[in-house]
Amino acid sequence: MNLVRIALDVPLPRSFDYRLTAPAAATTGRLAWAPFGSGNKIGVVLGEVERSDQPAEKLKSAELIDGLPALPADWIELCRFCARYYHHPLGQVMAFALPPLLRKGKLPRALKPKVFGFAESLASLGTATTWRPAPFGRVGAGETAEGRRASNMETVETAPSSNVATADQSAAIAAIGNASGFRTFLLHGVTGSGKTEVYLRAIAAVLARGGQALMLVPEIALTPQLESRVSARFPRKNVVSAHSGVADAARARAFLSALDGSADIVLGTRLSVFMPLPRLALIVVDEEHDASFKQQDGLRYSARDVAIYRAHQRGIPIVLGSATPSLETFHHAESGRYTKLELPERAVAAAELPSVATVDTRKQKLQDGLSAELIAAVGERLRRGEQSLLFLNRRGYAPVLACPACGWISHCRRCAANLVLHLADRRLRCHHCGLEMAIPHACPDCGNLDLQPFGRGTQRLEERLAALFPEARILRIDRDSADSPKKWQALLAAIHAGEADILVGTQMLAKGHDFPKLTLVGVVGADAALFAADFRAPERLFAQLMQVGGRSGRHDLPGEVLIQTEYPDHPLYRALRDHDYAAFAQAQLAEREVAGFPPFTFQAMLRAEAPELKQALDFLHAAVERAPAFAEVLRYDPVPMRLARLKNRERAQLLVESRSRPALQGFLTAWMETLYGLRTPRELRWHLDVDPLEF
Ligand code: ADP
Ligand code: ZN
Ligand code: ZN
Repeated sequence: MNLVRIALDVPLPRSFDYRLTAPAAATTGRLAWAPFGSGNKIGVVLGEVERSDQPAEKLKSAELIDGLPALPADWIELCRFCARYYHHPLGQVMAFALPPLLRKGKLPRALKPKVFGFAESLASLGTATTWRPAPFGRVGAGETAEGRRASNMETVETAPSSNVATADQSAAIAAIGNASGFRTFLLHGVTGSGKTEVYLRAIAAVLARGGQALMLVPEIALTPQLESRVSARFPRKNVVSAHSGVADAARARAFLSALDGSADIVLGTRLSVFMPLPRLALIVVDEEHDASFKQQDGLRYSARDVAIYRAHQRGIPIVLGSATPSLETFHHAESGRYTKLELPERAVAAAELPSVATVDTRKQKLQDGLSAELIAAVGERLRRGEQSLLFLNRRGYAPVLACPACGWISHCRRCAANLVLHLADRRLRCHHCGLEMAIPHACPDCGNLDLQPFGRGTQRLEERLAALFPEARILRIDRDSADSPKKWQALLAAIHAGEADILVGTQMLAKGHDFPKLTLVGVVGADAALFAADFRAPERLFAQLMQVGGRSGRHDLPGEVLIQTEYPDHPLYRALRDHDYAAFAQAQLAEREVAGFPPFTFQAMLRAEAPELKQALDFLHAAVERAPAFAEVLRYDPVPMRLARLKNRERAQLLVESRSRPALQGFLTAWMETLYGLRTPRELRWHLDVDPLEF
């Protein structure tokens, strides 16, 4: 009877041995059900063992799941790397890396009949030929307006080729194509410089040689255009998408078609970095700086970093693309560790980068947050029949409702945060925990009837613009107005059809969109991020403004960006005006080096949460006391988190840091062993976050 070691989906940092209910020839990489505690858990067989360290009479029996091919050795090794590096139980890494259906031990319906072999059953599904990625479901590329547009364009392109690659693009494509073995490229190109073209051509070269390509994008739900563009570009290839918007069965099929090699391109969000790809030959990470590549719960991995490990593991090139690379990536490119490829100009000859100017708001009276200059610029666009976008990264009407008589403010009783005023549906709402209530008629403390909104969100800006420009068609785009994929698609379609004159929106509008008539971007209320406690806030602000500004002037009409600020001389705004990312990045890196921040140090955060703050802090203090002595590792004091209370749980954290990554990892490995052995109150939860992005 086979004796196997299984990585089970349980929160313990070890694997367990089982007998198999029935003998099997090859077991490594197979999924199995195994009894654990009072129930059954899913797991992945790591291999056979000669003798177990568990007593023979205690060994229970596990059952292999039929109908699924074994996961390959390199997939298992990738999961082992994540378990080691992020100090997360291997069985849980593997469970996470599987699509939800397989994680439950189920197969997509059409795979169930066992009369077929695995490959045949996939073919019977038509996966290899008919399934095309679509933003939310199975809409074929040609079935949407963008799809039709893209198809027409691409047909022309891929047949005699209407787009001749620019010299910069050609150089980048050649460099990627000539790379032999592992190499990390930074494709640093301004918005609209044709980065996507470079990815697609590099992918085409790889497919022509029989390879598979993996393309990671930040939030696929926001970029249906890209999905259509990729599948229209490769009409005879099998392009599959993997993101949380894809239904469970389709996601499982995508995983299986990647695994059996019938998928040529996998396009997806961070979770797709775990797709098994036997012929993987190229990885692309688009918008590599985007924070959504880092998962903020469970397995707190960075898909970009895991992708780099994977490229190294497979000995293949990886392309990190961005207009505003993360400072980590830029630093590596400067030091020569990554190869820098630059696209300094827009690809379309007529398209220029927008002119960027600041509006000094210290010198003028604002009308509900809007300067005379910005109002005039919007009016000018209206007269010319062009579109304006006003960017304010705060949804709702106002961030807080307050009583001027007694000082009461609307706060969330479950979080250390204020309830945001939403006038559109007359609610107060917590953006952290979702708690909501009707707007009170009078102050709950003193009865004053005159409650006042303070500050400004997108709804208030929309209201103001409607009063200023009664004839204009205004569309607000934020997570409230686009709270379903359907509504979001409808809004995008309306913008494309020219049915809006003024767009008011949050960062939802910043990424990837191409609106031909958009010529003005106004930035309202961005200053707060200049002085935020988080040392990454300026980096994020710069990327965001560069990105949102890049929406304008992408075609033949010149674009203009107006940034309202009280600090027009701030180096960040100066670098934006000059389109000088490098100057900004170098200044930031110099500051970080002096302050000892990443990328000059490596960090990990131990966080704890409990009903009482003291419980969380006590745990962290106990954790520090038991920390192994490591000369090169610095430990800070436990402190409450900035959002100290969330959903009635008090949260605290403890930072550890080192100039040496191996030293930090050595420390963490030893430390985790003691922490797993600590007795903690039942209601306390803790986790480790390696390379944390949030403070
Ligand atoms: P990015 O990904 O850098 O934002 P895209 O690849 O989306 O840029 O290209 C921006 C626009 O320029 C698109 O409309 C694209 O079709 C066009 N484009 C890209 N490369 C070329 C080229 N070599 N010649 C003409 N147009 C191009
Ligand atoms: Zn009051
Ligand atoms: Zn709350």
